[in-house]
Amino acid sequence: MTELIDGKAVAAAVRARVTTRVDALRDGGGGTPGLATVLVGDDAASRVYVSGKHRACADVGMASFDVVLPADAAQEDLHHRIDELAADDRVHGMIVQLPLPDHLDPLAALDRIPAAKDADGLTTVSQGLLATGRPGLRPATPAGVIELLDAYGVELRGADVVVVGRSILVGRPVAALLLERDASVTVCHSKTRDLAAVTRAADVVIAAVGRPRMLGRDHVGPGAVVIDVGINRTDAGLVGDVDADAVSGVARLLTPVPGGVGPMTIAMLLQNTVTAAEQRLGAVAPA
Ligand code: NAP
Repeated sequence: MTELIDGKAVAAAVRARVTTRVDALRDGGGGTPGLATVLVGDDAASRVYVSGKHRACADVGMASFDVVLPADAAQEDLHHRIDELAADDRVHGMIVQLPLPDHLDPLAALDRIPAAKDADGLTTVSQGLLATGRPGLRPATPAGVIELLDAYGVELRGADVVVVGRSILVGRPVAALLLERDASVTVCHSKTRDLAAVTRAADVVIAAVGRPRMLGRDHVGPGAVVIDVGINRTDAGLVGDVDADAVSGVARLLTPVPGGVGPMTIAMLLQNTVTAAEQRLGAVAPA
């Protein structure tokens, strides 16, 4: 029997904790935490994601700032706006909505964000802090994966975990977070020989590939926990990287798509923003 992981419920619990922390900051005279988003262009899907982030801020009592640049904005214009937000005391967390138009360098833009305001946890400094095991704001989607595993009591210490995908956005940071939790981590990618043999032996499989229903019955061992990060738009609607029908009855726990990892990303973004606000307040509080 496969139990579906309820990402909406876990995300709601994270948001409730964030709301409590936002209230405590405000009641303690620390002001209102604020998240700024930077969107370049008018890509419809990105616009929807950004609106969702602003709604979520309002729901937990945070301020939000919506910066939109034209699709033909120059790299320098983008950097200038990021620098302004970095210097703005009302902004505790900030993100650049990806993907950027092709003429822009996303990593150069991300690296303008100070680590203390890096709500997506994706800058080189934040990823370096993670890779070297030091405190910092952690990448939102990977942190959401860990939150889901914790919420369902999945023991990570000593577990064999296979991550499929090695992107900077998901695969690499989720592997680093799992190492932090004492899992034995294997990272697979497009050059991996016999992927199914590797994933089938895992206690936990994390799929972050971007290929609809790529992982099937052969890829999952009996009783495994399967976290599907993939979001693929198909004629049949949104589907994950895992063939949910095929692994149903084999996996012990499985995240549905939608409703699994997806809701966690915004929840963890809010959590990072309130953490950044608390740290800033702590840093500026009189001794
Ligand atoms: P990405 O940058 O395209 O990386 C995909 C990874 O999959 C690469 O490392 C690639 O290997 C690997 N790969 C491709 N084909 C493979 C194959 N046949 N066998 C094994 N590995 C293969 O994608 P991403 O940004 O990590 O995103 C992955 C998925 O997660 C996408 O569907 C995306 O939409 C979704 N996502 C969801 C959320 C959320 O909030 N739920 C957030 C972010 C991303 P190489 O490195 O060798 O090319």
